[in-house]
Amino acid sequence: MRFIRDILQEATEAGRPVISCEFFPAKTPQGEQSLVEKIVPRLKAVNPAFFSVTYGAGGSTREKTLGIVDAIQKQHEVPTMAHLTCVGSTRNDIGAVLDEAKQRGIDNILALRGDPPSGEAFTKPEGGFEYSHELVEHIHTRNEFSIGVAGFPEGHIACTEGREVDWDRLKAKVDSGADFVITQLFFDNADFYAFRDYLRERGMNQPIVAGIIPILSARQIQRFTELCGSKLTREITARLDELGDDDEAVSTFGIEYATRQCADLIENGVEGLHFYTLNKSRATLAVAENLGFIQ
Ligand SMILES: Cc1cc2nc3c(=O)[nH]c(=O)nc-3n(C[C@H](O)[C@H](O)[C@H](O)COP(=O)(O)OP(=O)(O)OC[C@H]3O[C@@H](n4cnc5c(N)ncnc54)[C@H](O)[C@@H]3O)c2cc1C
Repeated sequence: MRFIRDILQEATEAGRPVISCEFFPAKTPQGEQSLVEKIVPRLKAVNPAFFSVTYGAGGSTREKTLGIVDAIQKQHEVPTMAHLTCVGSTRNDIGAVLDEAKQRGIDNILALRGDPPSGEAFTKPEGGFEYSHELVEHIHTRNEFSIGVAGFPEGHIACTEGREVDWDRLKAKVDSGADFVITQLFFDNADFYAFRDYLRERGMNQPIVAGIIPILSARQIQRFTELCGSKLTREITARLDELGDDDEAVSTFGIEYATRQCADLIENGVEGLHFYTLNKSRATLAVAENLGFIQ
C-alpha cells in the first residue's frame, strides 16, 4: 500500500486537503466484523486518503490492531496505518511487531508513547523506550515505513512546562524521522493555528493533519476531554448544558460544529482532516457531505 507521506505530499501540492478516519479494535469478533464489513465500506464514500487503527493499553490489542489493518487493506484497498505504542514493550517486542507489520503489507505506522492503563503513570519499560521520539528513531532506521506522530495544539496534558515546550519536543520527534503529524482532537481553531505557526516558523514543514471529533453525546465528550486535556469552547459548553442528555440533538449540534470547524480549517489551508469516528459512520459522513467531499 502507498506511503502516507506520498499521499499527503501529492495532496499538498494539489492544494486539497485529505480526509482520514480512525477506528479502534472492537472488543468482540462480531464488533470487528461489523467494523470491517459495514462501517469501513460506508466510510469509503468520503474518499478517504487513509484509515488508521489504534493500539490498546499495554500492547493489549497488538494482534487485533495488525489483523484489522490487514483486513481493511485487503478487503477495501485503502492504505491503513497501524498505531504502535511504547507501553510495556521492549525493543525486541517492537521489532517483532514491525516485522509482522511488514510481512502483512502494512507500510504506515503512527509512533506513540501511549498511555498506560487508567490511573497509572507511564514508566519506561525495561529494555524499551521512554519517549516516542526514541520509537520514531527506531522505526526510521529500518527505512521501511512512513511514520506519523501525535501533536497537541493545546500542549500535551502531562507537559507542565507549557505548550511551547511540548511543541519544541514535537519538532524534535519529527526531526527524528517522522513524515507527518496528526493532532489530538481540539475545538478552537485558534489553538491549531498558533501550534502550526509556531512549528512552521521553526522550519517544521511536514504536513499537520487536524484531529476532528464530531460530538455525539455530552457526557462522552466531557469524559474524553478530561482524559486528554482538550478544552471545550464556551459556545460548546453552553449548548451542551442546554441540550443535556438529548443525544440526538447533541449529535446534530456536533455535526454542525464540526462542519464549521472543518470549513474554517480548509479555508486556512489545512493539509488533512482526521476523524475520530469511534467506530461509527453517521457523523463523519454528514460532515464530509456538508463539506462537499461526497459526490
Ligand atoms: C492522533 C493520536 C492517536 C493516538 N493513538 C493512540 C493509540 O492508538 N494508543 C494509545 O495508547 N494512545 C494513543 N494516543 C494517545 C497518546 O499515546 C498519549 O497522548 C500519550 O500520553 C502521548 O503520546 P506521544 O506519542 O505524544 O508521547 P511523547 O511524544 O513521548 O510525549 C509524552 C510526554 O513526554 C514529554 N516529552 C517528550 N519528549 C520528551 C523529552 N525528551 N524530555 C522530557 N519530556 C519529553 C511530552 O512533552 C509529553 O508530555 C493517540 C494520540 C493522538 C493525538
